[in-house]
Amino acid sequence: MNISVAIDGPAGSGKSTIANIIAERFKLMYINTGSMYRAVTLMAMRNNISFSDIEGICKLTNSLDMHFENDKLIVNEEDVSEEIRLPEVSNNVSNYAAIPEVREILVKLQQNMAHKYNVIMDGRDIGTVVLKDAPLKFFLTASAEERAKRRCKEFKEKGIDTEYNNVLNDILKRDYIDSNRKSNPLCKAQDAIEIDSSKLCIGEVVEVISGYVKEYIEKNN
Ligand code: C5P
Repeated sequence: MNISVAIDGPAGSGKSTIANIIAERFKLMYINTGSMYRAVTLMAMRNNISFSDIEGICKLTNSLDMHFENDKLIVNEEDVSEEIRLPEVSNNVSNYAAIPEVREILVKLQQNMAHKYNVIMDGRDIGTVVLKDAPLKFFLTASAEERAKRRCKEFKEKGIDTEYNNVLNDILKRDYIDSNRKSNPLCKAQDAIEIDSSKLCIGEVVEVISGYVKEYIEKNN
């Protein structure tokens, strides 16, 4: 039986750092679904396809061959992992991710990956839509200010110049669009375990989640 672990939460809540560590610890494939929405956004921006051009964006999304190689996302044989993290992609991604047709295509891809492999998948709709039958679901939260601080630190480490207020505004804007869109909005699945990551360090959150994963594996193997 395949293991599926779902982690949802808003931007900067620590999902990807934590999911990466858990993936390595339990030999799971890490699927960062935010990267997939970012890749669609990057390609649309490169090709000047606006998020109001639904037909164009669907055609583009269907033409993208995406797969993960460890934590790298390869799209049509190009490693886009660095470029999809740029602030201009972050500023636009929620508009493209709100398109139901785009979500339908990417959700199918994500579900296919979970059928084939043991996965830990993070995003906004994993516990509610993509892997709604997953036995292990977590919902990470943290204050917007704390999340903005973390993002600024990440940008600084990569040598990208950003202002705290711009990062905070981007996070607040994305939280709003992601939580209020009609199609698969960001929300906690009823059966997800909520963890406030502003009160715990990364290592502590990893230990909490690892405890549940370990217990599940021991019971089911
Ligand atoms: O996780 P990350 O912040 O990289 O995600 C970028 C954006 O992709 C989110 O702000 C959201 O608009 C979109 N997203 C989504 N559904 C997911 C994952 C990400 O709508 N499952």
